[in-house]
Amino acid sequence: MNVDLVVVGSGFFGLTVARQCAEDLGKKVLVIDRRHHIGGNAYSEAEPETGIEVHRYGAHLFHTSNERVWEYCNRYTKFTDYVHRVFSIYQGEVFPLPVSLATINQYFRKALSPTEARALVAEQAGEIDTATAENFEDKAISLIGRPLYEAFFRGYTAKQWQTDPRELPGATVTRLPVRYTYDNRYFNDTYEGLPVDGYTAWLERLADHPNIEVRLETDFFDASQEVSKTNVLGNVPVIYTGPVDTYFDNAEGELSWRTLDFEQEVLPVGDFQGTSVMNYAEEGVPYTRIHEFRHFHPERDYPNDKTVIMREFSRFATSGDEPYYPVNTAEDRRKLLAYRDLAKQEKGVLFGGRLGTYKYLDMHMAIGAALSMVDNKLTPHFRDGAA
Ligand code: UDP
Repeated sequence: MNVDLVVVGSGFFGLTVARQCAEDLGKKVLVIDRRHHIGGNAYSEAEPETGIEVHRYGAHLFHTSNERVWEYCNRYTKFTDYVHRVFSIYQGEVFPLPVSLATINQYFRKALSPTEARALVAEQAGEIDTATAENFEDKAISLIGRPLYEAFFRGYTAKQWQTDPRELPGATVTRLPVRYTYDNRYFNDTYEGLPVDGYTAWLERLADHPNIEVRLETDFFDASQEVSKTNVLGNVPVIYTGPVDTYFDNAEGELSWRTLDFEQEVLPVGDFQGTSVMNYAEEGVPYTRIHEFRHFHPERDYPNDKTVIMREFSRFATSGDEPYYPVNTAEDRRKLLAYRDLAKQEKGVLFGGRLGTYKYLDMHMAIGAALSMVDNKLTPHFRDGAA
């Protein structure tokens, strides 16, 4: 095999590493992926009947405050000026998310000023000290108080994670800002937008380099393939972006992952819900949210008598399911430490991406981490022959 590097997995992490090594370091890179398409879970495609771009593995919203990542991404795609906003249905009423002055005033049927709203939430959150709150539930209550937590987070989180919120990390809830203004942008980042001609076009341009070959439907663990774990290890350096527990045959036990199921429908209406993502806060509704993809690209010329919606359901992944979200309970974190030790000892292999590191990385974080891996590990390795 005449290559300098094998990358397992063609998601943003894998393709960014591949591109940097191919372009800046002049290395020949082979990227393999088990699926029939590139891009991992960021892959999108046009729904055939309507032409509406559907994010096959759930909505992907690009946002970052990292200048380098933003500049890097702009080499391969232009971005629209899409700004993500999310609403949540609770007891038959629609509320804006994340929790803002609008949510607070609507929920309590008040017209509080920012100062008054802060005072009210502080009173309701007083039972828990933010500084010491570590788990999801304590952190949420310390930030927004128990009533808002119970309305907008408890039921949704029960469906999304099916794990006691006291077992989940507090960092998951702090992904969402809390604001005492009427600003209802979902993200706080400096830059935000969607790729003008879609995620797949962006990913394909990232992979499009004479030093990169992408081989699809190639399973790293299938020893009968030319490029498998058994015959590559020790011969060529490997960047592995699949699940870290799978790599080690679950030797330290299985890490828990959430997977998603999607129910897609083409409806004979121009607009189903008036917005791209509607969350369903209550446990009684089996899905967590409904995506309506036309709203991600209002600038496109989509048919106005049809729309594509996708209901999202979350459940524990079992073998054969696609892992999406690391659950990250205390038990998982113990196993992860053991896997990290194994990973460190694994000669010639570096682990990266959401699945390879068991971290809840957003796209911009995966891209940033890939750039750092090239800077800190691969450049010294290839350029200076360091280990
Ligand atoms: N969350 C919630 N209610 C909502 C939205 C989010 O309880 O309406 C919680 C939920 O536990 C979720 C976490 O906040 O997993 C992070 O939300 P985010 O929107 O970042 O999740 P993602 O879009 O990555 O699935």
